[in-house]
Amino acid sequence: MRRKIVAGNWKMHGTLAENEARLSQLVLELKSRDACDVAVFPSAPYLFQCQNLLANSIVMWGAQNVSQHPSGAYTGEISTAMLADFGCQYALIGHSERRELFHETDQDTAQKFAVVLEAGLKPMLCVGETLDQRESGDTMVVINRQIDAVLASVGIAGFTNAVIAYEPVWAIGTGKTATPEQAQEVHGAIRQQLAQHDAVIAESLQILYGGSVKPDNAEAIFAQPDVDGALVGGASLNPTDFIKICNAAG
Ligand code: PEP
Repeated sequence: MRRKIVAGNWKMHGTLAENEARLSQLVLELKSRDACDVAVFPSAPYLFQCQNLLANSIVMWGAQNVSQHPSGAYTGEISTAMLADFGCQYALIGHSERRELFHETDQDTAQKFAVVLEAGLKPMLCVGETLDQRESGDTMVVINRQIDAVLASVGIAGFTNAVIAYEPVWAIGTGKTATPEQAQEVHGAIRQQLAQHDAVIAESLQILYGGSVKPDNAEAIFAQPDVDGALVGGASLNPTDFIKICNAAG
């Protein structure tokens, strides 16, 4: 039985004061719960704040991005060792905003996935199609390609300690959610793709759905057999909504 995860991607939002209020509410209201894993992804300067406020809680934290280089002259970049210093358990890899706005390729994503694993952290690999790609019938062509790049880099064993987030680009921040059936169809196909390499690893891999998940649609999405939680953007900035989504996960 796979455990569900609800993860909040805060993107480039938050201040020390706002984060403190948000994190304190999460710690307090999720204190006695153990039904699903919970993680937050703040902007990098606030990882230290997460380490301080979340260290003895059930809430885990991670980075929204990481460099594929271990150290050196890479102005503005952050290494996996730095993330480990701040107690991160996860790093988001290949979010569609990184792919689109910062031109990250499948190969960059694959390298980042590999260095995150090497550092002992869990990559949360984001994959997903644009509306054009969906309408052209290419959803699984795109997703298979995104996952194949990572398989070529780390092999199927690399997915033993990783998470995949299926995030249709057309559903991110748009208020349009994939129907539970659309999510299930893609999640099932991702699991099948990986099962061709190793059925046991594929069966135990957590595959999250992301794209306009809210308190009122979470339960139906979580009811799908291959949906193991959610990566939540906008709604994760409101701790009351985020906690409702966590409660819907079990
Ligand atoms: C995201 O950015 O990963 C995301 C899923 O955003 P939203 O929930 O706002 O669509």
